[in-house]
Amino acid sequence: MLELKNVSKFYYNKGIIASGFTKINLELKIGEFVAITGESGSGKSTLLNVISGLDSYEEGEMYINGKETSHYTEKDFEDYRRKYIANIFQSFNLINSYTVYQNVELVLLLNGYKKHEVKQKILDIIEQVGLTQFKNTKVSKLSGGQKQRVAIARAMVKDTPIIVADEPTGNLDTKSASEVIEILKKVAKDKLVIIVTHNIEQVEQYATRIIKMNDGRIIENREIKKITDEKTPNESVYNNISIFNKYRLGIRNTFNIFSKFALLFTVFLFISSAILAEYAGFQMSEKESESEGYSIAFKDLSKNRIIINKKDRTSFTDEDYEKINNLANIDYVVKDDVFIDRSIPLSKDDMSLYGTLLNIENFKGNIDIGRMPENENEIILMAKEDSFYVKEELDQILNKTFSILKSQGINAYNDEKVRDLTIVGIHLRKDEDSVNNYDCSFYADNSVLSELRSDMNKDYSTVKILLNNKYTQYTIEASENVEKGKAIVDDDLKYQFKNFKIVNQPISIYISNIYYQDELNLTISNTYTKSNFKKLTGKDKYDYNRYKIYVNKEEYDSLYNKPSYQSSVYVKDVEVIEETIGELESLGLNPKKASDFKIDQGEQYARIIQIIKVIVTIILIIVLFFISYLIIKVILKSRNIYYTTLRMLGATYKDVKRILEIELFVNSTIAYLCLIIFIYLTNINVINAVYIARLSSYLTLREYALMYIVVTVMSRLISMNFARKLFKNTAIHTYNEDV
Ligand code: ADP
Ligand code: MG
Repeated sequence: MLELKNVSKFYYNKGIIASGFTKINLELKIGEFVAITGESGSGKSTLLNVISGLDSYEEGEMYINGKETSHYTEKDFEDYRRKYIANIFQSFNLINSYTVYQNVELVLLLNGYKKHEVKQKILDIIEQVGLTQFKNTKVSKLSGGQKQRVAIARAMVKDTPIIVADEPTGNLDTKSASEVIEILKKVAKDKLVIIVTHNIEQVEQYATRIIKMNDGRIIENREIKKITDEKTPNESVYNNISIFNKYRLGIRNTFNIFSKFALLFTVFLFISSAILAEYAGFQMSEKESESEGYSIAFKDLSKNRIIINKKDRTSFTDEDYEKINNLANIDYVVKDDVFIDRSIPLSKDDMSLYGTLLNIENFKGNIDIGRMPENENEIILMAKEDSFYVKEELDQILNKTFSILKSQGINAYNDEKVRDLTIVGIHLRKDEDSVNNYDCSFYADNSVLSELRSDMNKDYSTVKILLNNKYTQYTIEASENVEKGKAIVDDDLKYQFKNFKIVNQPISIYISNIYYQDELNLTISNTYTKSNFKKLTGKDKYDYNRYKIYVNKEEYDSLYNKPSYQSSVYVKDVEVIEETIGELESLGLNPKKASDFKIDQGEQYARIIQIIKVIVTIILIIVLFFISYLIIKVILKSRNIYYTTLRMLGATYKDVKRILEIELFVNSTIAYLCLIIFIYLTNINVINAVYIARLSSYLTLREYALMYIVVTVMSRLISMNFARKLFKNTAIHTYNEDV
C-alpha cells in the first residue's frame, strides 16, 4: 500500500535547513497495526505528516499503491488524503464549539454527503466509541479520553483505508489511553493503522510491526506478524461539499461561539453605521449647499423660478399677466418680483420679524392658526413649522400690530414707517412648499406692496435735477400742498440766479434706475426756509432738510409708483422648464432661470468644496474599511485552527472561502438589519434620536441598498484574503503556527 524509498524531509527556516528525517525506507500494508516509537525530536511526527500528505518531502520517492508521488501537486495530495487518510492528533483537533455529533458529521458534510443520509451511520459510530449519551454535548465539555474517542469516531466515519494517529494517548491517563488503543485496534481490521506512542507496552499486544526512530532515521523495524495477502484498499468515496452544506456550516458557524458572534456583530454594526452616517452626512451637506447657492441680485434661486421682464422694457400690464397665467406649466406668478429677494422687517416694540413680502393673491395654503385677513392692513405670516416664533412666541405675534418701515435700500436713511400691519393668520410651512429660502414670509394686500415698491423704486433710482443749465442731485418728495406742474425748492438755490429770481424758473427732474427712466418738467413756485417749511410743505418741522424738492403727490407717483417691470413665474414642472421659457419668449418677454444667477465664483468654490467632500468621504470609508478589516482579522485569527481543521478534513480553498463568506455575510446582514430597524424606530419616534432621524432623512432606499452592497463586498474581500492566507502554506504548517 505505502512504500517509502530513501525519503528525506528538510525544513527551511529563515535560511537555516533542518532535517525532519533522512533516507527512510519503509513498506506498509493494509491490515497492519504499526507502532512507531522514539525520543522526542526523532522525526516521528514529520514522518506521519509526510505519509498522510499533510506535508511535502524533498528527496526520495513515496509510492501509493505502487504509484510515484514526487510529482504530486497540492491538489493531488488533497485527493489522496480524502480517499485514503484519516488523522488523529495528540491535541485532538476537534471543533470545541460543535457537539460530538456535529464533529463527526463535519467530515461527511465536507465530503459531499447529505445530512439526512448519514445520520444513522454517525450514531452507530458514536455508539462504537461509547459516547452515545454525549452525542449532543459540546466537545469543550468532555474529558481528554472522551475527546480522543470523538477524534477516533471522526477518523472512522469516512471509512478510509489508512488511519494515522500521532501520540493519540499522549494527553491521556492510563485507563483512558488503553480504552483508546482498544478502540483503535477494533477499527484496524482491514485497515492500515499507524500510531506513534511513547508507551510501547500499551500497543505491544496489538502491533503487527514496531518501528523505532532516532535522529531522523529508523533504527529498528521489527515485523511481529507478517501480512501475506494484502487486500486492495477500499478508497473512501467523496464528493465536493454541496452548496447547501456550505450554507449549513456557514450559518452554524455564525452563531456557535457567542462571543465571536457578538464581536463580529459589533464591528459590522460599527462599520455599517459609520458608512451610513458618513454617506448621509455627505448627502445632507450636499443638499444644504445646493439650497445655499447664492447670488448678489437674487436670493431665491429655486429651480422652478423664472425671472421675466418685457423685451420692450415697459412695465407689465394685467393683460400680460393673463397671457402668462394661461400657459400650461405656470404654477403662479409673483408680480412684485423685487420683494422675493430681500427680507423686510416688521417691527414692534422690542421685536422684529424679517421675511419676504408676498402678495396675498399668491397665497395658496391654508390658515393653520388665526384667520384670513379682512382688510388691507391685515396680513398672513408664513413660517416654518418648527420656527422659534411659532413655537415659543405665538402670543407675541398673533393679532399683534407691526409697522412696516420704508425701504431699507442703499439710500435708506430713516425709519419712517409705511404703515401698520396686523398679523391675523399663520400658515405653517412644510419644507416642500418652498416659496423661497427665507424662514418667514408675509402675505399682504396689494396696496402695501405697491406703496413699498414705489418707495423702493425711489431708493434705487438716480435723480438728476437740471436748474439754470446745471445738474445737481436732490431728493424728490411728495407734498399735498404743491400744485400740479409746480415745485417748491430750498431757498438757498436762489443764489444761482441773477437777482435771486428763482420763482417761475423751470426745473427738470430726471430719474433713472435699472428698469426705467422718466422725467418731469416743472416750474418753481416757491422756496422754503426753516421758518416757513411746515407751512409750505405741510410736513413736520423735523423733516426739514435743505436737499429736497417738493412736488405734487400725483406727479411724484408718476415717477415712482410704477407697475412692476420685473416679475417672477414659478413653474409646476421643472423638467419642462425650457419649454416654458420658449413660450414666455414668444410672448415678448425676456425669461431667465433664477438658478442661472448663481455666482460663478461661488459655484466654482462650491464645486471644489464638493470634490473635497467626496474625497474625504471616500477616504473615510476606506479608513473605516481597514480599521474594521484589521479587527475582523484579529477575531478570525482565533479561528485559524478551526479552518485548518476543516482543511485537514478535506475542505478546499474554495470551500473554506465560501463557508467563511457565508458566516460573515449572515453576521453583517443581521447587523445591517438591526441598524435599519434602529433607524426606523428613531423615525417613528419610538427611540428618541432626532439627529439620527434627521440624518437618515437624507438616505433613500437606493442608498440603503448601495451601502448594504458595500458592506457585503467588504465581508467577501475579508473572507477571500483570510482564506488565501490559510492556504499559503501546507495545512500542518499553518496548524503548527497556531498551536
Ligand atoms: P517527534 O515527533 O519525533 O518529536 P518531529 O517530527 O516533530 O519529532 O521533529 C523532527 C525534527 O524536525 C526535529 O529536529 C524538529 O526540530 C524538526 N522540525 C519539526 N518541525 C519543524 C519545523 N516546522 N521547522 C523546522 N524544524 C522542524
Ligand atoms: Mg511529535
